[in-house]
Amino acid sequence: MFNYNYEIASLLFLGIVAWRFTKFRQFPLLSNRVFGIILFFATADILCDIASIVTMRPEFPVCVSFTFNTLYYILQLLIPCALIVYMLALLSNTRKITSMHYIKAMLPSFIFTAVMLIGLPMGYVFSISSDYVYSRGPLSGITYVGFSVNILISLVLLYYFRKEIPAAVRNSYIFLTVISVACVFIQYLNHSLLVTSIGLTASITIMYFNIQDPNRMLDSTTDAFNHSAFRIFLDSCINGNKHINIASFHINDLRRANTLYGNKNTDRLLKNYSQFLSSRNNPWVFRLSGARFVIITGSDDEIDRISQYPAVFSITTDTGSLLTVDISRYIIKSAEKLNTNILLNIIESTSIISGSNNDRFFEINEKTVKQVERKIRIESILKDSVETGTGFSMNYQPLYSAEKERFVSAESLLRFFHPELGTIHPDEFIPVAEAKGLAPRLDEMVIGLVFKEISAGTFDALGFDYVQINLSVESFANENIISYIRQMLRKYSVSPDFIVFEITETATSCSSDVIRNKMLMLRKMGFRFAMDDFGTGYSSIARQLTLPFSIVKLDKSLLSSSRDIFSELVRVLSRLGVTIIAEGVENEEEAEFVKDTGVRILQGYYYSCPVPADSLRQSVEKTPER
Ligand code: C2E
Ligand code: CA
Ligand code: CA
Repeated sequence: MFNYNYEIASLLFLGIVAWRFTKFRQFPLLSNRVFGIILFFATADILCDIASIVTMRPEFPVCVSFTFNTLYYILQLLIPCALIVYMLALLSNTRKITSMHYIKAMLPSFIFTAVMLIGLPMGYVFSISSDYVYSRGPLSGITYVGFSVNILISLVLLYYFRKEIPAAVRNSYIFLTVISVACVFIQYLNHSLLVTSIGLTASITIMYFNIQDPNRMLDSTTDAFNHSAFRIFLDSCINGNKHINIASFHINDLRRANTLYGNKNTDRLLKNYSQFLSSRNNPWVFRLSGARFVIITGSDDEIDRISQYPAVFSITTDTGSLLTVDISRYIIKSAEKLNTNILLNIIESTSIISGSNNDRFFEINEKTVKQVERKIRIESILKDSVETGTGFSMNYQPLYSAEKERFVSAESLLRFFHPELGTIHPDEFIPVAEAKGLAPRLDEMVIGLVFKEISAGTFDALGFDYVQINLSVESFANENIISYIRQMLRKYSVSPDFIVFEITETATSCSSDVIRNKMLMLRKMGFRFAMDDFGTGYSSIARQLTLPFSIVKLDKSLLSSSRDIFSELVRVLSRLGVTIIAEGVENEEEAEFVKDTGVRILQGYYYSCPVPADSLRQSVEKTPER
């Protein structure tokens, strides 16, 4: 009397979907998990239906079929309820969905289920008769009512949030509703035609096509979740107001690893590293960029454990290749305005967060968010400003010669003013410009401005012997830099021996042939070079001085922290015959100390702050005899 061939066919289909769903590592989004539950419910539902029919025979006790049948109807109430939860889970990617929302959405189904269960022993829903296995009671239509109520709720939700639900999901929902209503209706009219399962299976198959494509969420080299997965996951964490900790693993010198071990071996190494990270009970391992992996966890203890991972990684079977890793961890403390973009920015540019310490432990709070917002803002305005040159001006800080007892030079220092953000310091915008590849353009602009000032006679009038210009190391990669400088020399009739270019010690410690060749060319033209911020890097003096530097500027930090090193460096450098400049001389005591060590040229607030060109004379004359 019951024909369950449809059910068997449905079961096969569901089996295929379930196999695909479990075979590929699914991105464990809430909506994907709910889909897993729906899949499970549907399979169980159909199995119960088949079981209730198969056991409807005299050789089985009556209660067996009865139980399966009851389960079948309960699941029919739970499936549409799960569909509503699925929709809420989708919405949680874009808005805050609380557990209260979920409870409200599930309430009708629970009430119907409760009524059904309570009605059961009284025979209101189904009763067991002697000839039939069971028969329908006066309340047997309750499952249909419950089903319809749930469908109605989901349609209302769908209409209400139509703008936030992806079109594909929306359409499949409508399709799914039509099909299941039709099937339930058919079955309601004709009990022996078990087509509900067909509708259910068709709907689930369609839904499956709309869930996250697992391959799009994975990084193909390492099998870790990729950047887009990270975005989706973070969005859902932030919207759900979840407490999260993040550990970041930055692989140092990946490029060098590629040259040393070859791309293939490095990829293998990375894959192994990714596996190492995920094998330690960390489900949420993401590869954020080529050199950065990230783990997210909600537990504070776990993040402590994770950040203790070794900083050196090699494959046990091969001792040749290894990666060194910088591990940082971030805890998120009440940051209301935090969004995924800002968080990504924080992780990618930790150096700009003030208050970070050597422990590489970062607390993300309102202040960090503000700093990063400012940085993002600077990034967005810098490009246009650099292109048009608006907002930039030069300041000059005079350099005092203790030997000649007068000011002999000035260092040009760039200033940037923005109507909304106010004055932005070079320490803030130069790193951004360098990261954005804008530094060469910026340096060209500075060269133009300073040459123009020189040709206006500002420095001659003050009796200066030369002017110093800071260059970013990126400028040496600029093909046109030399011809640009030549062009400017001609335009402003400036003599190269009036110019000293400053390049930082750290920039030149990774010295390449490109830097060296360009420096030699400029040197030949008559320019000189000063090594800036000496004493902050780790390079050996001997190696540094293989580059054509004639001046070394001792970093201001040496003066305030390590006087012994300062004197020692001065002694060594004097013997090498380079001119020494002491930076950051802030008071008389420091000036005396510096002069005692034998340094002849001094620069710092004690002599003068950096000032605009037209204030330079006043600044120089105001300074009493030193
Ligand atoms: P820097 O080349 O080491 O410049 C010296 C910095 O120390 C300047 O900061 C200057 O204002 C500051 N300073 C001068 N005297 C004292 C002192 O007595 N005590 C202390 N504590 N600081 C002093 P500023 O102007 O903010 O520049 C910061 C950095 O930005 C510069 O460091 C330089 O690396 C970069 N920069 C500035 N202008 C340019 C430019 O035109 N082009 C490029 N590529 N970089 C620039
Ligand atoms: Ca400098
Ligand atoms: Ca410096």
